[in-house]
Amino acid sequence: MLRIRRLSEGLVNRIAAGEVVERPAAAVKELVENALDAGATRIAVVLTGGGAARIEVVDDGHGISGDDLALAVQRHCTSKLGDEMLVRIATLGFRGEALPSIGAAARLHLTSRPHGASHACAIRVEGGQVSAVEPAPGGPGTRAVVADLFFATPARRKFLKHPRTEGEHAEQAVRRLALAAPGTAFRCEVDGRVAFDLPAQDRAARVAALLGGEAAATLLPILESRGAVQLSGFACAPTTHRATAAHQSLVVNGRPVRDPVLTTALRVAYRDVIPAGRHPVVALYLELPADALDVNVHPAKSELRFQDPAGVRALVIGALSRALAGGAGGQVPALDPAGGQVPALDPARAPMARPGLRLVSSRPAQPRYAGFAEAQLPFTAGPAARRLPDPAPTVQHPLGAAVAQVLDTYILAVAADGSLVLVDQHAAHERLTHEALRAQHAAGGVRMQPLLLPAVVDLPHADALRLLAQAEALRGLGLDLEAFGPGAVLVRALPACLGAPDPAPLLRDLADELAEADEATALQARLDAVLARLACHGSIRAGRRLAQAEMDALLRQMEATPRAATCSHGRPTVLKLTRAEIERLFGRR
Ligand code: ADP
Ligand code: MG
Repeated sequence: MLRIRRLSEGLVNRIAAGEVVERPAAAVKELVENALDAGATRIAVVLTGGGAARIEVVDDGHGISGDDLALAVQRHCTSKLGDEMLVRIATLGFRGEALPSIGAAARLHLTSRPHGASHACAIRVEGGQVSAVEPAPGGPGTRAVVADLFFATPARRKFLKHPRTEGEHAEQAVRRLALAAPGTAFRCEVDGRVAFDLPAQDRAARVAALLGGEAAATLLPILESRGAVQLSGFACAPTTHRATAAHQSLVVNGRPVRDPVLTTALRVAYRDVIPAGRHPVVALYLELPADALDVNVHPAKSELRFQDPAGVRALVIGALSRALAGGAGGQVPALDPAGGQVPALDPARAPMARPGLRLVSSRPAQPRYAGFAEAQLPFTAGPAARRLPDPAPTVQHPLGAAVAQVLDTYILAVAADGSLVLVDQHAAHERLTHEALRAQHAAGGVRMQPLLLPAVVDLPHADALRLLAQAEALRGLGLDLEAFGPGAVLVRALPACLGAPDPAPLLRDLADELAEADEATALQARLDAVLARLACHGSIRAGRRLAQAEMDALLRQMEATPRAATCSHGRPTVLKLTRAEIERLFGRR
């Protein structure tokens, strides 16, 4: 019979190391968290070989006294958690596991000097072997060097990816902490390249610096609360989206987290304004009372449990949806070929300021060269551009007044402040129709327009059955369908707001859409996708000539419609070139 025995401290540490330092990025994260917990105002990280060969983290925090160094590298030794405190955790670390785990799996050299101490002290832990504490050279603060990660745990070393990949993950870990702590200066160097070097700054500047200039230009400020929970930060307009979620920074009480409640809420908020499978760029900060949250879920501490997940979800979805629902006037991405400077974003100080919004002056622009232009410029009606005979006076609307239709596809408008506005008429109208359908459906049912002559549409047998099986639900969407022998469907009515679309391609598309879902929940689950398909069929096509009144009506509707800056597939519907941008393009600035 096998006897039970107690595991050695070294083995326990190596087991814990497997959870705490799963890869170089995790070790880097733990060390930077320690620096932040120590109140550092500057943190410098240098990674070699993606962090697997060497990690160095230097901070100017309060340091560790020589007497405490030996304890710091022992398991379950921490200065951060008193008894009874597990319900209100205010520091990033609290488990006293990181340093012993790193020391068990790698070679850890820790040098520290508390402010006011006459000299620094150092300790080494290599594969669990702890050295004596010795005096050492070093300035105030702490310097942790981790070399040969996993040399003592070869099983784990085999799972290391290419140094470039490990380096990317590690850099990402530092970036996430730098976004969480903008008041601390951060420098991060990866294999000889300076990934970023940022001074202490406000949150808006930090977000702009780390999320990239192009994304930063479309960020919408968020600031809302619900009870004791506050959500703030920035979320991108729907025109900015990425292939992965790597550009999402979620910070809860100062701690970067990956949390399914938050990521699901994000997905729901952006579901129908960006293309499926794409991810928004966000930097969101949630603050809530420490006891409404449990961060002690996993040794890596990046998972958490909310006491009221439904409330948090509602806050995130509500705040983002409201920010995203601004009419198109508020979310037009500026054309900025020169790269441009990053706008100052500060939701706390200017909750209504939107980086993409150009305020329209109340004084109409002077049509200074109107007569001259008339006489001199060869801007005549041609195949490509049709100038409107009598452009409406430039009025005080964010999207301005239509002045021409280009290629029978794009509306060219001029806003009162002189901005040029270019609208993709099909994409824009598709979004308007989609929103109209959605609003009618939410209000009880999509209005039907009976056809003068019911249409017979021939379809593959399975498609016809699929549509007829959902006939009842489709009535709620404004379609009246009946069986008409094998492989045919009789269409008696279509949604009124679609105009008079050709029913055959519309039904084929709907059948495809239904085929993608499973039987029972088919329509409900894909309702919005179905509405989007309908909208596409009911929208004015590219290539259709529009009257001026139609164009202006479209612009006004766009301003009044939620999510109108992108079409139902997430592409932009409108581009805007401001006077300043035009002047820059012409080298006048
Ligand atoms: P935890 O952070 O959970 O307390 P660690 O193993 O990461 O556990 O660190 C152990 C202790 O060592 C900390 O509680 C802290 O007192 C001290 N320490 C670690 N790193 C630093 C640092 N950079 N500056 C000051 N003290 C530190
Ligand atoms: Mg720690």
